[in-house]
Amino acid sequence: MPSNTRIFARLGRFLLDLLLPAECVVCSSDEDDLCAACCASVAGVPVVEHLGELRLVTSGAKPDQVVRILRRLKDRGQTRLARPLGLWLEIAITEATAGLGLPAREVALVVPPSPWSSWRKRGFHPVPLMLRRAGLVALPVLTNGRSRFDQRKLTAQQRALNLAGVFRSRIPLSGIRVLVVDDVVTTGSTILEARRALEAAGAVVVGAVALARVPLRRDSAN
Ligand SMILES: [Zn+2]
Repeated sequence: MPSNTRIFARLGRFLLDLLLPAECVVCSSDEDDLCAACCASVAGVPVVEHLGELRLVTSGAKPDQVVRILRRLKDRGQTRLARPLGLWLEIAITEATAGLGLPAREVALVVPPSPWSSWRKRGFHPVPLMLRRAGLVALPVLTNGRSRFDQRKLTAQQRALNLAGVFRSRIPLSGIRVLVVDDVVTTGSTILEARRALEAAGAVVVGAVALARVPLRRDSAN
C-alpha cells in the first residue's frame, strides 16, 4: 500500500479525534466516549464457549453494547473507544491462556486480516488497534490470499463459502502456539478460516478470543 495513503489516513484520524467532542456512546454524557459508569455496566466476566472443538473465550461484555461501540469505532472512526475494547480483550486473553495453563508470553496473538477495502475506508485495523491500546501486540502473519464479499449481508453458509481458503500465512509458523483474536463472533467462519490457514503454516491453534458472540441477525459490526 502507498505509504503516503497510510500517513494521510493516520493524520485524518488524529485530527478527527481532536475535533470530535466526547460523548458517551451508551448514555450520551459528555464525560468521555465511553464514560466510567457505562464502561463498568457493559463489562462482564469472561465466558468459555466452543466453536466445534476450538475453545472460545468471550469477554463477557454485553453483546448489544459491544456491537454499538464497535460501530462507533469502525464507522465513525472514534478510535478512543479502542482502549476500553482492548482492555476487555486483554481480560479474555488472560482467561484463555490461564485456562490452558500457559504463560501468556508463550502464546502468540493473531488477528484475522480485514479486507483491504475496510482498511482503505477506515485508515486503521480495529482489532490490532484495540490490542495496542491494551499494550498487546498481534503477530501480523495472516494476509488475504484473495478478495471476498462483505460478510454483513451473507447467510451462515454463504459466509463459510466466502471465507473458504481466503487467508494464508506470510511465514512458516512451525510449532508456534497461537490464540486467534477477533472482535465479534457470529457463525465463527472467520476464526475457523484463520485456524485453517495458521495450521496450514504449522502453527498450533490453542484457542480463540473475542469481545462477544452475537446471533447472525444482530451482527452489523463485522
Ligand atoms: Zn455513559
